[in-house]
Amino acid sequence: MPLESTADKFERTQKILSALKRVYPNAHCELNFSNPLQLLVATILSAQCTDKRVNLVTAELFKKFRSAKDFAEAPLAEIEEAVKSTGFFRNKAKNIKACCAALVEKFGGEVPRTMDELHALAGVGRKTANVVLGNAFGINVGVVVDTHVTRLANRLGLAKGTDAVKLERELMKLVPQDDWTLFSHWLIWHGRRRCNARKPDCENCETQKLCPQIGVKK
Ligand code: SF4
Repeated sequence: MPLESTADKFERTQKILSALKRVYPNAHCELNFSNPLQLLVATILSAQCTDKRVNLVTAELFKKFRSAKDFAEAPLAEIEEAVKSTGFFRNKAKNIKACCAALVEKFGGEVPRTMDELHALAGVGRKTANVVLGNAFGINVGVVVDTHVTRLANRLGLAKGTDAVKLERELMKLVPQDDWTLFSHWLIWHGRRRCNARKPDCENCETQKLCPQIGVKK
């Protein structure tokens, strides 16, 4: 790709955003939840696991555990058993229990609304905090960088590398803050439906004219 000026890159990004917005007008978080606590737990469970599998698990889990107190007071083995099929279940169960105990102790059982408070909870990294803030509270404090966002940002030539912190910083400079949460969904939806890891469908891609297809084998 020829060297692109910052202004040109910014302009190209806005065109990509318009295209993705047009193609995915209903893009949203594909984890099922009906309150911030459920989204927090579902996001912890989604590490190294598909949203589909998490939704199957949480459909039962949330019938049994309805509050942070329920999770905090449950025997660890019971949570482990309930989340087993999402993988890394011992760690996830431990984090959910510890995280919910802190919610009860420090926040009256509610999920806090700031990055710092969320980030301090067990099992909650910047990505999980961004998911919860953006989707449960409508607060745009950052861009969720997952495997799809990383792949697409690189292929589209918007940011480079795999360091999530650096990628997020670069993307935040290019995308208007109001769009940060949706932007992740647009890339994730595009990654799942068009620009998948092994065989991107560049021929039929809606952003083809705007994409340098960096790293895509021809
Ligand atoms: S043109 Fe190809 S590499 Fe670029 S976003 Fe579309 S599918 Fe992905």
